[in-house]
Amino acid sequence: MIKAQIPEVKALLSVPKNIVIIPHKNPDGDAMGSTLGLYHYLKYYNHNATVIAPNDYPDFLKWLPGDDTVLKYESQQEESKSLIDKADLIFTLDFNALHRIGDMAEVVEASNAIKLMIDHHQQPDDYAKYMYSDVTMSSTCQMVYNFIEMLGDIDKINATIATCLYVGIMTDTGSFRFPATTSQTHQVIGSLIDKGAKNSQIHNNIFDTNSYSRLQLLGQALQNLEVIPELRTAYITLSQDELDEFNFKKGDTEGFVNYALSLKGIIFAAIFIESKQDNIIKISLRSKGEFSVNEFSRAHFNGGGHTNAAGGRSEEDLLTTVDKFISILPKYKKELSL
Ligand code: 5GP
Ligand code: MN
Repeated sequence: MIKAQIPEVKALLSVPKNIVIIPHKNPDGDAMGSTLGLYHYLKYYNHNATVIAPNDYPDFLKWLPGDDTVLKYESQQEESKSLIDKADLIFTLDFNALHRIGDMAEVVEASNAIKLMIDHHQQPDDYAKYMYSDVTMSSTCQMVYNFIEMLGDIDKINATIATCLYVGIMTDTGSFRFPATTSQTHQVIGSLIDKGAKNSQIHNNIFDTNSYSRLQLLGQALQNLEVIPELRTAYITLSQDELDEFNFKKGDTEGFVNYALSLKGIIFAAIFIESKQDNIIKISLRSKGEFSVNEFSRAHFNGGGHTNAAGGRSEEDLLTTVDKFISILPKYKKELSL
């Protein structure tokens, strides 16, 4: 969003409106933290705001303040459609292409509501009247903080909003270690703690609520880890049978790919997770340095994201998908080998 548009947005928000706030499908910490953080801010101005997630999200996010108000389009279609139909404004957060919200996209496209995007992914689509898109940002949560600041409302950030925004900055930066973590990120985090975010407790709520079976599944994933040292690449596979064996629940594989990336000398990591329900292989890609997994995923696996973190999918079976991955790698020999 260019600064010049801020007065227009401020004017729009100066009278109570019907507002829908949407995160991407399979929402993560940044998607839920940013939508709920914005939700609590809009509630302060008595807007009739609702967060509608395309589908459910992991249990480790279910303690977030306002979680009980979130609608899930997948299981609450009628209620969701009616809110989208009568919305004056629709905020889309932490994604920038409508296909990222699945079936919900057609309902949003059909709506006459004014659309506002706040997002940090690369190559945004042009569907929103007001776009605050910045790929240098650590997280959408950091951008929601900036958005509230641009509206001159930093003092409206209370402990509830601060808690939500802290979560997304923390999860999207890998606890403040990925390269998009800047001094401004730390300043925002400092300010959120001052406003009442309980940092240590938040880390605990997100990271230290493992089930025994999730740790066993991690054990299996690490057993399945394969390394291609000459291309500084490592990958993990998990079949549906393995997921079933360890009682897989949504969110259980979050972060597994980072173990592959943590191997000494590895700059490119992938995880391939079979989903019989969706009939696809879900792919997460991570890299260090210049190698763009966003470009790699766009070129070969129907996805995208950021330079160092992207998602993708394959409609072929697990083995075929991994074979395809391995066969593509030599094309990137120049970038990947030492
Ligand atoms: P993950 O591997 O955790 O699913 O995704 C990594 C990052 O890429 C996240 O920021 C996620 O929002 C983004 N991402 C995942 N899938 C897609 C996709 O299909 N398109 C785009 N543009 N971004 C994606
Ligand atoms: Mn994000």
